Amino acid sequence: MLVPHIIKELQEIVGTANVATDKADLICYSYDATQQQFLPEVVVHPATAQEISRILLLANRELIPDIPRGAGSGFSGGSLPTKGGIVLTTERMDRILAIDQENLVATVEPGVVTEQFQQAVEKVGLFYPPDPASLKFSTLGGNVAECAGGPRCVKYGVTKDYILGLEVVTPTGDIITTGGPTMKGVVGYDLTKLLCGSEGTLGIITKIVIKLLPLPEAKKTMLVLFDSIDGAARAVSSIVGAKIIPTTLEFMDGRTLDCVKQATGLQVPDAARAVLIIEVDGDREFLDKQASRIAEIIQPLGVVETRIAATPAESEALWAIRRAVSPSLRKVNPDKFNEDICVPRSKVPEMIRKVDAIAEKYGIPIVNFGHAGDGNIHVNVMIDKKVPGEMEKAEHAIREVFTGALELGGTMSGEHGVGIAKAPYIPLEITPQTAAYMKTLKKALDPNNILNPGKIFLDS
Ligand SMILES: Cc1cc2nc3c(=O)[nH]c(=O)nc-3n(C[C@H](O)[C@H](O)[C@H](O)COP(=O)(O)OP(=O)(O)OC[C@H]3O[C@@H](n4cnc5c(N)ncnc54)[C@H](O)[C@@H]3O)c2cc1C
Repeated sequence: MLVPHIIKELQEIVGTANVATDKADLICYSYDATQQQFLPEVVVHPATAQEISRILLLANRELIPDIPRGAGSGFSGGSLPTKGGIVLTTERMDRILAIDQENLVATVEPGVVTEQFQQAVEKVGLFYPPDPASLKFSTLGGNVAECAGGPRCVKYGVTKDYILGLEVVTPTGDIITTGGPTMKGVVGYDLTKLLCGSEGTLGIITKIVIKLLPLPEAKKTMLVLFDSIDGAARAVSSIVGAKIIPTTLEFMDGRTLDCVKQATGLQVPDAARAVLIIEVDGDREFLDKQASRIAEIIQPLGVVETRIAATPAESEALWAIRRAVSPSLRKVNPDKFNEDICVPRSKVPEMIRKVDAIAEKYGIPIVNFGHAGDGNIHVNVMIDKKVPGEMEKAEHAIREVFTGALELGGTMSGEHGVGIAKAPYIPLEITPQTAAYMKTLKKALDPNNILNPGKIFLDS
């Protein structure tokens, strides 16, 4: 618990009602989607960059850790107060400040919920593509800090591709701006890109300038069942090889399908051992042509059944199957570790074979689903932590999954970030020289190591 004079100073900065020290309040800000728990000493709800700046000046003076937090939906523990200190939530900074329809640019505060922003721009015929599956609750600040991806990123790119500029409070309390509302800008270092994906360790984002696109006229969704994961993976390569980049190319392997069937009663032929959900968007007449062309290309690759949505409701029903994956896996096995490796697209089948071999070696179920179109595979290691020895097996299996991905030219994380979950594995992917370069940067910007300490690098 922080000493009373610090709590009093925080209350003076943000107002008494916006400082929480009750155990019940602290618990609400003590966990994220990793299901690990660390209690903060205090939670503050600032409303402006100026307030955040004053909090960071105080934290530097008193050497108190500060942890920025959006919705706490992160999968790598980035928002967890592992060393206690002050959790700063962006809940009160939730305004869409401007949607400039002439220049297709929006300016928002960091606490805006992703889906609410998407709906607001769609109302005026505009489009913000990044669509993490958590979009109903994740915040844009959290999306920028993690450089979130999602199904549509295969065609449209990830969060950083849409961020033109930021307002940021630096770890030492300065308020700076990076980039701006222009489509081009090369004056100085590209700090916007540096801060995208910096996991709340280099600054607290207080304003975001976002590039928008015109909303596509229509979309068409198809669900294709294959007799093998190899067929589904070859379908992805064949579609892209035919120079068609669908909006989404999501896959589930046979084990994932089994879990969804068991949990939801989904009816599919027994021969189905893999699923692709393919969506295309654009002009209405063009969509039918593109969907038929895709069906023609993939037919020889072991297609068991193709379901094409004829209405938005049918499209929604197909996507409901994809959204049922996470809850279904949890129903079947209570504890799962959701890793998000990314390999070159063409290596997806080889990676799945490696994962199957690892699952067999350790005798634990591992199921795979994810964004096949960009090689981003959600590898879910499913165990029951209460069973002796299962946790150790999971740790060995996860290390081998990461090593396998790196051997194929991939990465340990396509979108969830490092946080604390992947910090122990950093030396597998990043050389000591590169790590030293990154740590020098962090040390220069945050000499007292008060901003989200212990994240990304274990010794930070
Ligand atoms: C069911 C489910 C599905 C998911 N699907 C996807 C998916 O498809 N794609 C994907 O990429 N992720 C996915 N995620 C992970 C998660 O939702 C994303 O990482 C999201 O971007 C986190 O946003 P948040 O607001 O919850 O941030 P938090 O979890 O609160 O924070 C995440 C990180 O951002 C930092 N941070 C938050 N706000 C700021 C700020 N204003 N300034 C600086 N740093 C800040 C925090 O310190 C932390 O390090 C999923 C999670 C769940 C639970």
